Formats: sequence, C-alpha cells, structure tokens
Amino acid sequence: MVDITSEKNPRIGVFVCHCGTNIAGSIDVKDVVEYAKTLPNVVHAEDYQYVCSTPGQKKIEDAIKEKNLTGTVVAACSPRLHEPTFRRATQEGGLNPYRFEMANIREQNSWVHMHEKEEATAKAKDAVRIAVAKASLLQDLKPKFVDVEPAALVVGAGVAGMQAALDLANAGIKTYLIEKNPTIGGRMSQLDKTFPTLDCSQCILTPKMVEVGRNENIELMTYSEVEEVDGFIGNFSVKIRKKARGVLTPDEAEAKGIVGGGCNGCGDCEAVCPVIKPNPFEMGMKPRKAIYIYHPQVVPLIYTVDFDSCIKCGLCQTACGEKKAIDLEMQDEFVDLKVGTVVLALGYDIFPVEKKTEWGYKQFDNVVTSLEFERLICASGPTGGHLIRPSDGATPKRIGFVLCAGSRDNTGIGKPYCSRFCCMYSLKHAHQIIEKIPGAVPYIFYMDIRSFGKMYEEFYYRIQDEGAKFIRGRVSNILEDPATKNLHVYAEDTLLGRPVDVELDMVVLAAAVQPSAETEKTRRLFGVSCSQDGWLLEAHPKLNPCGTTTAGVYVAGVCQGPKDIPDTVAQAEGAASAASIPIHLGKVELEPYFAQCIEEKCAGCGMCVNLCPYQALSLVEKDGRKVMQVTEAKCKGCGTCGAYCPGGAIWMQHFTTPQIIAQIDAFLVGGEQ
Ligand SMILES: Cc1cc2nc3c(=O)[nH]c(=O)nc-3n(C[C@H](O)[C@H](O)[C@H](O)COP(=O)(O)OP(=O)(O)OC[C@H]3O[C@@H](n4cnc5c(N)ncnc54)[C@H](O)[C@@H]3O)c2cc1C
Ligand code: SF4
Ligand code: SF4
Repeated sequence: MVDITSEKNPRIGVFVCHCGTNIAGSIDVKDVVEYAKTLPNVVHAEDYQYVCSTPGQKKIEDAIKEKNLTGTVVAACSPRLHEPTFRRATQEGGLNPYRFEMANIREQNSWVHMHEKEEATAKAKDAVRIAVAKASLLQDLKPKFVDVEPAALVVGAGVAGMQAALDLANAGIKTYLIEKNPTIGGRMSQLDKTFPTLDCSQCILTPKMVEVGRNENIELMTYSEVEEVDGFIGNFSVKIRKKARGVLTPDEAEAKGIVGGGCNGCGDCEAVCPVIKPNPFEMGMKPRKAIYIYHPQVVPLIYTVDFDSCIKCGLCQTACGEKKAIDLEMQDEFVDLKVGTVVLALGYDIFPVEKKTEWGYKQFDNVVTSLEFERLICASGPTGGHLIRPSDGATPKRIGFVLCAGSRDNTGIGKPYCSRFCCMYSLKHAHQIIEKIPGAVPYIFYMDIRSFGKMYEEFYYRIQDEGAKFIRGRVSNILEDPATKNLHVYAEDTLLGRPVDVELDMVVLAAAVQPSAETEKTRRLFGVSCSQDGWLLEAHPKLNPCGTTTAGVYVAGVCQGPKDIPDTVAQAEGAASAASIPIHLGKVELEPYFAQCIEEKCAGCGMCVNLCPYQALSLVEKDGRKVMQVTEAKCKGCGTCGAYCPGGAIWMQHFTTPQIIAQIDAFLVGGEQ
C-alpha cells in the first residue's frame, strides 16, 4: 500500500551556508535568511559560515530538537557533494533522513552570477522558497537492502582488466575475467619497451598474465563475449558467448573422455595448416595460419581455429594425433553467470589515421603508425627487432614522428581530445632508434610536448640531449618521392616562423586512440553512459572516477579515457577496490527513490513497462486483474513512467506529483498558493 499522506503541520528549518566567500561573496546571505523566515511553514532560519562543518551540522541537529522540526532545508552547494552529510545531520537530530531538501545556491547561482549580487540574491530566495515548498510535503522513506552475489565480473583482459581481476581474486572474491581475443594482455603485450623507465613491456606483463592464468579465484574465459545482461547491483545475470575456438583445452578433452588429450600448444597443427592470413597482433606484418596463436607467450596457451578462413582440410587434426584436441565442428556455447559487481576494462583502438589523407598512410609504404613501429622495433616482432623501411627493407636513418596524428583535431575528421600517451611514446621511439641505429636522427613534429607524469619531463630532456630534433609545428602534408620512396614532410616551424620541407626515409604517425570497437554495444548492455567521444562516463570526474551511473558497475583503464600504463593500473586497483566493497558487505543499500504503483488507479495498460529504460517494471496478475509491479532494486527513480502514466497511478517516492506541483507553485506564485 502506497502512503500518500503528508505532514499536517509542517515545521521547517532553513540553514543558509556562506561557503566562505563562495556563496557569501555573491549573495546577501543575511537577506536570504530574513526572507526564509517569512515563508509558510518555516519556524527557524539561520546562516553559518560552513554548514557542512561539524558545528554547522550540530546547528541542524539542535534546531530539529529545540524547534520540533518536521523537515530541514540547507541552501548551499550541489547535493552531489553534501546531500549525504546533511541527511546524516537530519537523522542525528531525530528525523527520517529523507525529510531533508537541498537548495543549490552555489554551482547554480553564486558561481555563475558572481558579479550580479542583487539578482543572485533574488534567485537564492526563489531556490529556498521552492525547497521549503517541497520539504513541507516530504515523507519518511526507508532504504531497501539487497543481498550481493559473492562474485565479480571483469570484462576485457588488457593490463587494466588483469589488474582488476587479480586484486579482486586476491581479496578472496571469485572473479570471472572475460576477454574477446584468444589471449589476454591487450595492447600492452604489443609494445616493445615502456616509457620512461624503458622496461621491456612483455617482461613486466607476462608475470601478470601467468598469475591470472594460475589464480584459483579467477575463472578466465578468453575468446568470449558478453551477450546479455540483466539485473542490478548485487544481482547481475550475465550470459557469456564462448566462441567456438575449434580446439579443446586439456580439461575440456578430459571431460569428453579423451585421456591425456587436449591442446598442449605444441604447434604441430600450425605447421601443416595450408591457409595463410595476416596476424593482427603483428599489425598484419607477419603471417599466421588458419589455426594459430598470436605470439609465443599467449595465456592460455591454446590454439584457435579461424573458422572464417579454415578450409576444413583436416590436416591439423591428423597432425594433432592422439591429443584429439581439434574439433572442426565445434559450436559457440553460452554460459550464465551470476555476479554482484562488474568492472569494465574495454581498452581502446587506434584511430584509422588513413582518414587524414594528407599524411599518406596506406598510400605510401614508408608511412607507418606508432603501433606498427612498436612491432617493427620489438625483438619478437616480424623483423626480429630490426627496424626496416617497408618499401625496400633498408635501415632508415632519418625518421619523422608526427605527433597529434588525429588527436587535438577539430576538423571533424580526427578527435578533439589529447590521446595523452603519444607524446611520451614518441619520445621513447626516438630514443629507441638513436640507441639501435648508429647515426639515426629522429625528427619530432609536435604542437607541444605533454610530459606530465613522474620522471616524464626528465625523460623529455634526456631525449633532447640524445640528439633528437624537435620541430614545433603541425604537419600539413606528406608526399612521396616515387623514385626513392623517401618522404617529404611539410610543416610550418612555428618557432622559426617559416615553412619547412624535410626529406625523410620513414614517417611514424602517433595516431589518436578511440574507444574499442565493442565499447558501444557492451556499455549499452550494462546501462553505462558515455561521453561525447564515446569513452565510458565515470560517476564523477574527480570524486568517483571508477564508478559509473549504474550502481555496481565500475570502469578501469583507457575505456574511460586515454591514460598510460601507470594510470591504467592505478584506476584498475581503484575499480577493483570499489567493486569488492559491496561483495564484502554482503548487502547493499538502495536509495528509496522508487516508483510505486497505486494499484487502485492502475489500468494495467502496460505502457510504462515498455518505457522504463532500466527494465524495472512488469505487469502481474493481482485479484483477477493486471497491475504494474516495480522491481525496486532496478528502479533508478528517473520518473519516465510516472510522467507518462495517463491514470496517475505511479507514485515517485521523493518526487511525488504533489511535491513537484508545490515546487512549481512556489516558483510561479511566490509560495502564496
Ligand atoms: C604505440 C603505443 C605505445 C605505447 N607505449 C606506452 C608506454 O611506453 N608506456 C605506457 O605507460 N603506456 C603506453 N601506451 C599506452 C598503453 O597501451 C595503455 O595505457 C594500456 O595498454 C591500456 O590498457 P587497457 O587494459 O586499458 O586497454 P587494452 O590494452 O586495450 O585492453 C583492453 C582489452 O579488453 C578487450 N576487450 C575490449 N572489448 C571487449 C569486450 N566487449 N569483451 C571482452 N573483451 C573486450 C580487448 O581485446 C583487450 O584485450 C602505448 C600505447 C600505444 C598505442
Ligand atoms: S582444417 Fe583448417 S585449421 Fe586445420 S589445417 Fe586445415 S585449414 Fe588449417
Ligand atoms: S599526448 Fe601529445 S601527441 Fe598525443 S594527442 Fe596529446 S599532445 Fe598530441
């Protein structure tokens, strides 16, 4: 039964905060307090320097007790910041914490009307009047608690996902780690060295990959994708598609009664497979077979059949022999998981820099991207670490690095944001060629060098000292000399104030990064918002950078925005910690802003069920008729259903129709209704 009664004789206390000079500098706080005293139902009003401080909160508690208040209003900053503080103070005073209303007179007033004191003060009075109108109709609400499934899901097994999974697992939590590729490791496993310390990327990553493969609390599902998601914090039901990899693991073979069978990574199959395809791990610069592993350090060490190119000749099965690991008729499988919390670590893709046609990528052989450069300079790469010009295999001596290739680009073709790690990895690349190729000279074309991290500026100075040439200017055009395949790089040197034409053997484009291909689909499955650029949106950029707008779903790594490995790992640790809290608590509290059905008024039309963006509503049979039912844990209190219901049968707790109408009245007719 929905309680729609409200206080008969409301007694409201109003507390106006100075916030130092943040508010008081632009608003006449004393005037607002005097005005509040004249409002209907207000029995107490006062101001204080910082209402959020301990003495400030004490004032709220004392006033509730002394004046027998039924509700409180604080006119201060954004509720996102201090609503919990003032709710707690209201509760300490002896009231239900939801009998509190906040008027934002800082972010929505003093900060935007800094030099209009009179108007800002008038607006603050409006805000207080509106808040008082609502506070007079507030009701006691009780938060709900739901049990939390003691398991976590991490989607994406780059360095972010691996770190998050390891932290969760080491905190004693059963963790499912889902990776769409046949191996874990993500982009970091494609890198040669890492700035600024120049550690070998694989050397520092492989121990983590091995640990992930071995950790008893981690259930690793590679070559798998999230297919469906249902539920809410504490109780997510997730369907995983395990793509048919055509090869059995030893465990899978044993389950099928093949004793001592399954793939042991020997590679006998690969040796006989007649189909040759480009290896995407090597950026297409090295071949692989239709049955393949990306590289020797893959985890898990299990071959995968690329069914799009496999001709089913069966040679691999013969070569595999008694291990009987290869099943060319294997089909996708579906696995249902129940988890309490989720970490999304979906990483990034490289911007298709060929869209910027003026730089000649995919037109001229000797223009490559930085990721291709990483593979070319890497000892385990297609050339064994010997940097060569793709056109003729010669060792390049004069190599250009074009920074911001598609980043900080407002032409509508590239990306407006800074990709954040390309300045630093281009400095690393410059160092690598100086170190490896005697007499080599790197030419770095840049707008400005962003070396913001620990020991990064020092690294920049080091590369300058090593002899790299820096040309400050955006590259306008790259043309190829057809005879030599050399490249002419045209730019304006903005320090010298003149155009330059530099002839180079090879050019490396520090291409922008963008959200990975499946980010959009995956974020929608989990109901997570994204920014304009498609990066996953954190709950708060400063105070909750790992949370999302969906309770129980957290973000880690580049999928939230470009960041280097140290920042990626730090955020992954934060996300894992946040994701472990509900699991360790065993229960989560939900804010009671649910829709409620006034069953007497519900016609059972079901329109609201389809409208709800969170699938929180359903129709159920009650006393021989259909009525709407709310799954409170799924309801976010967005009000879509309540605004629509033609019969007024939906009661939005804390945002009821009478409360909203009272606020509108207070605004329009000055509370004199
Ligand atoms: C050329 C280059 C050089 C660099 N050099 C350095 C360096 O020297 N030092 C440094 O600090 N940083 C460097 N970086 C940055 C570094 O690559 C990133 O910081 C790091 O890889 C981010 O890791 P991640 O886990 O967030 O993303 P990723 O490495 O992209 O991992 C994401 C993983 O999620 C998987 N995935 C994506 N979507 C799904 C899905 N829907 N379902 C399942 N799995 C999914 C992907 O397959 C991938 O394995 C460099 C980057 C580039 C491009
Ligand atoms: S059956 Fe397919 S994977 Fe096996 S050897 Fe033939 S082409 Fe290669
Ligand atoms: S990190 Fe440097 S190269 Fe990359 S987009 Fe930002 S400024 Fe440009």
